[in-house]
Amino acid sequence: MSEPIAVERALSIVLEATPVLPFESIDTDQALGRWLQEEIKADRDHPDFDKSLMDGYAVVAADLERDLRPLRVVQEIPAGTDPAGLRAVRPGGASRIMTGAPIPPGADAVLIVEETEGVEGDPESVRPKSAVRAGANIARRGADVRSGEVLLRAGEFIGAAEMGVIAACGRTRVRAGGRPRLAVLATGDELVEPENAPGPGQIRNSNGPVLRALALRAGAVTRYLGIAPDDERGLRLLIEDGLGDDVLVLSGGVSMGTRDLVGQTLRSLGVEILFDRVAIRPGKPFTFGRRGSALVFGCPGNPVSAYVIFQVFARAALRRMMGSAHPAPVPVRGVLKTPVRQRPGRAGYLQARAAWAGGAYEVEVIPSSGSADFVSSARGNSLAILPPDVTSLPAGASIETLLLDDQPDR
Ligand code: AMP
Ligand code: MG
Repeated sequence: MSEPIAVERALSIVLEATPVLPFESIDTDQALGRWLQEEIKADRDHPDFDKSLMDGYAVVAADLERDLRPLRVVQEIPAGTDPAGLRAVRPGGASRIMTGAPIPPGADAVLIVEETEGVEGDPESVRPKSAVRAGANIARRGADVRSGEVLLRAGEFIGAAEMGVIAACGRTRVRAGGRPRLAVLATGDELVEPENAPGPGQIRNSNGPVLRALALRAGAVTRYLGIAPDDERGLRLLIEDGLGDDVLVLSGGVSMGTRDLVGQTLRSLGVEILFDRVAIRPGKPFTFGRRGSALVFGCPGNPVSAYVIFQVFARAALRRMMGSAHPAPVPVRGVLKTPVRQRPGRAGYLQARAAWAGGAYEVEVIPSSGSADFVSSARGNSLAILPPDVTSLPAGASIETLLLDDQPDR
């Protein structure tokens, strides 16, 4: 095994080794959560006609400057009316108009309904209570967006709001980054699947479901390969299968024990190991390699280690594969609620709860019974980062924290 390398170095090796998947043309109903790989341009002006922004009366503004005599209502214009069929508004007249409806010829302002009152005995007239400035409550054609304007760019994440832009531009298909196929393989003779009761010396496989869930949340199409035994023959079969996908994520078998055979098995299958130790706590024996375009993340078996390694490294690789322009995790700054200490030499990624405290995130590190405490990830929603040379931080200190997307309660 090599000397542990710094987290930043490991992350840059991972990202350099990660291919961007070929782009795909997909139906827009498949686009949510993908990364856009083309420009989306407006196919028309927005609005496409001079439009009322309020319910009220379309009027000639100068007319109301002179006096506030009742106006004759010449028509009612609901949203969706064809502008071509509208009657003109002249001094002394007004059109009742709804939000989103086209402005009739001659009118240059909309007086909001609250600034008018009825005229007793004359339902065809309305009395303005105030004057109105020319242009008030009207969105001119093209005021929001001009036809041909670029509204979304390649490399942008497609979230709910982007779905609206795509729809408003009339697109039914878009070009987006591909979805990685990802295989999950748990290793360890001690493991049984959750539906089984562990026998003497056995434990349930919790990493399989966790890694699969993380991959799903990150946008991958996942395949679960089951549990491999701690022998090379059994490992080879399942690893070879997993190498057929874009990404293989393994848990266990990467430490120094006599039955930790993942590294040598990977090598024997032609996987190039790019590093096998990282100066991170937890997660030091993280092994990363590639064969052809397939990436292998050999996570330590400790549940918290596997969780941290996926969140910091594998998620970034998946984002790059899917076409993100900014795949690396980006921390926020928070304020430590409780003091923390660590031995120097490795960056600490501590399970934490970040909560918005009206001005800053307060970060509470979750006391852990060690790197195998599989419950602490579920109690946390973030990872507080202690740089390798920092041995302690007092309460109140500023600390970088990764907010985890799959734990949004904060
Ligand atoms: P290893 O990295 O294989 O040495 O495993 C380290 C620790 O994590 C051991 O206590 C294992 O029993 C535990 N472990 C390994 N794989 C899993 C798994 N899939 N689910 C839960 N715990 C695991
Ligand atoms: Mg093991």
